[in-house]
Amino acid sequence: MCHHYRNPMHCILPPYMSDKLGELLGEEKQEAKSNERFREKRRSLAAIAPATRVFKIAGDPPKTKLHRELYDAHESPMQIGELIWKEGQKKLPASADAKRVIEGAGNVWSFYKKLFNRNSIDNKGMAILQNIRYRENKFKPFFNAFWDGEQMFYGTGSPKYTNSFTTDLDIIGHELTHGVIDFEAALNYENQSGALNESYADVFGILIKQWVNKTPARKAKWLIGENILKGPNALRSMKAPGTAYKKDAVFGDDPQPGIMKDFVKLPNTEDGDCGGVHYNSGIPNHAFYIAAYELDGNAWEKAGAIWYAALQDKSLLKKDADFTAAASATLKKATSLFGKGSAEVKAVEKGWKETGVI
Ligand SMILES: [Zn+2]
Repeated sequence: MCHHYRNPMHCILPPYMSDKLGELLGEEKQEAKSNERFREKRRSLAAIAPATRVFKIAGDPPKTKLHRELYDAHESPMQIGELIWKEGQKKLPASADAKRVIEGAGNVWSFYKKLFNRNSIDNKGMAILQNIRYRENKFKPFFNAFWDGEQMFYGTGSPKYTNSFTTDLDIIGHELTHGVIDFEAALNYENQSGALNESYADVFGILIKQWVNKTPARKAKWLIGENILKGPNALRSMKAPGTAYKKDAVFGDDPQPGIMKDFVKLPNTEDGDCGGVHYNSGIPNHAFYIAAYELDGNAWEKAGAIWYAALQDKSLLKKDADFTAAASATLKKATSLFGKGSAEVKAVEKGWKETGVI
């Protein structure tokens, strides 16, 4: 039923990981109840029309400049926290969370502006609203970060099990890119189109990190969320899906496939991760990695440009696009941007072929 929500809440941590963190808090018995509360929130957020929810912005947001606002949820599930900073205020709030998300959103905005001349998330100068220190309640931390269709929310996590969900720039980039996707191909958040939605968010999340740190494709680690979990674990690996964590005491083994042969079939329900969107995103993720590695240099310059052009072309990448459609769209864009038979076309082809998509 994932596609019924107007604004699905796009969480960085998939249900197969967040449920395990819930269990750790001794909530086995209450798990169903707590999940139901979360779903209720998702439904209520989705039901409220955007126009009535963006009332926090004073006046019209600037149309061509970066405009960020930061809200403090004060460790509660408040949807309208306290405004603690907005664009133009020289002094940043003192907390590391605040600094990271203000800077992070600025980097995301600049990445899209400088590389693709995109004017914010909606390409119309949308203000970037972010909420930190989000928590389910006094006793229960919130182990996630999400984009709700209009704003970002970052959970505090719990120092015992995770770092703050503001820690990784690629996670900030991933979540804000869900917003960009919603305004472009708007890929349905279910089954293969949902896995493409997840993959696009990972691809641009990691490209934003590589761009800021000037890391070329062959030097990058291609790990999503490498600082969120305690220890050496990341959430996902684009280079080698299925290896981000192994025999972890909490999470077990990373279940992501990297090739079509291992495609995970799950029901299109919330418990089934909307048809395995966070599982099978490993396949297009890996196809992108192969193309970028093959092209050498900076991944955002060629592979990123091809993927972005495909995302913007609704005639090629439709809402219900499957992996084959994404392969065809990126191949067409590689051809129009770099020429027939070019090294770029060959690299993209290699990515989709080696993952078994074409
Ligand atoms: Zn996501």
